[in-house]
Amino acid sequence: MKKLKTNPYRLATQIVIIGLLVFAGIKALISNQYVADFEAYCPFGGIQAYASFLLNNSLACNMTNIQISMGLVLVVAVVVFSKLFCSLICPVGSISEWLGKLGDKWKVRRTISGLSDKILRSLKYILLFITFYISVTTSELFCKWFCPYFSVTSGFHPDVDIIMATIALVIVIFGSIFFRLFWCKYLCPINAISNIFRFFYIFVGITGTYFLIRILGLELSFIWPLAILCVLAYIFELHSLNNKPFPLFKIVRDQSSCTSCQLCSKSCPHAIPVASLNVVRDADCHLCGDCIQVCPEKGALSINRSGKKWLPVLAIIVLIIAGLLFSRSFELPTVFEQWASQEDMQEMETYTISGLKTITCYGSSIVFASHMYDMEGVYGIATYLNNQRAKIWYDAEYADTTAIREWIFSPAAIPIQNLPVR
Ligand code: SF4
Ligand code: SF4
Ligand code: SF4
Repeated sequence: MKKLKTNPYRLATQIVIIGLLVFAGIKALISNQYVADFEAYCPFGGIQAYASFLLNNSLACNMTNIQISMGLVLVVAVVVFSKLFCSLICPVGSISEWLGKLGDKWKVRRTISGLSDKILRSLKYILLFITFYISVTTSELFCKWFCPYFSVTSGFHPDVDIIMATIALVIVIFGSIFFRLFWCKYLCPINAISNIFRFFYIFVGITGTYFLIRILGLELSFIWPLAILCVLAYIFELHSLNNKPFPLFKIVRDQSSCTSCQLCSKSCPHAIPVASLNVVRDADCHLCGDCIQVCPEKGALSINRSGKKWLPVLAIIVLIIAGLLFSRSFELPTVFEQWASQEDMQEMETYTISGLKTITCYGSSIVFASHMYDMEGVYGIATYLNNQRAKIWYDAEYADTTAIREWIFSPAAIPIQNLPVR
């Protein structure tokens, strides 16, 4: 039987992921009761939402603790293993790779190299910077405007900008056929942010310094650490630099068993010259294991000399299960506002109400906060998308739960405003 050129464990995972997405899409089409939440497991949305929470005290868009946990899974996977999300989970990456194989079959695919490759690689950091800046300053996910995955799975949801998303889709499809992984290498902000996490010490050092400056009460916009991280990750990517010992798992070549047949280099989706490296430190390597799969010499290629090619699949399954369990252990409010001093807030009563159909995202939470701000005796709210809940702080001298319920359900025209402390 002909030997597969792709790591079979990885291929099976990619097929299962795309199969699940197709199944959810078909189910959503034939059943009015079923709403497929294709965003629920997007780590990039979770990372932006958490950054928005740290900087503004509000979660971006309609993100919940599941996306935030998936963001954490992405970080741990990148730091410890490699870009496992890209290699195994991301359907855009899988489809780009398969389209690239079609391009090879038609003999039309090229690998961009040299100066053009170096310049183009900067684009994804620019896109990451713009996306992050807009998402954090507006608490709405800007990536939804153009994300090829979200536009297709949501059937061009109203949040999608049709022109931007169509351009992105055209680039994904034709870019993959004619150029090696064009979207992934040059434009994908998840790839850019993964490279930032990959340089772990630098990421921790710069973000730690930034939050220390804020704790000390000094004003400094987040755009500075973000810009520095983007520039450094770009430079590090160009020079294949690593923060030793991260990532902990790497492809290693044993020179004594290697016959320099070059099959590994030819099979690498990112065209990394594996056959001429002893340890693969290239930022593009996502530990797919395809090079190990094609190597004819036993033991010539391995993950950390002993690891097997099923290790990345096992790692991502364990990490996702751990992430889902972790997501049940905490809950961050979408909007958290308090309009009195901390001392006064300690004296307030609280009232929690669930099933509020109007609390669906950051925008609707802000409208709810504006409405509650106008009620006498109410001094704070926190909204949670899970169970569409709100926690309300009130002064029992001026308000009670019946009055609060009546106020919540009374119609009102509410201007969206910044709510000052009373
Ligand atoms: S680089 Fe982006 S599009 Fe490509 S596989 Fe990774 S996350 Fe998906
Ligand atoms: S495929 Fe194996 S034997 Fe061939 S060059 Fe690569 S490591 Fe060496
Ligand atoms: S070097 Fe090997 S593991 Fe890394 S991307 Fe290339 S084929 Fe995959």
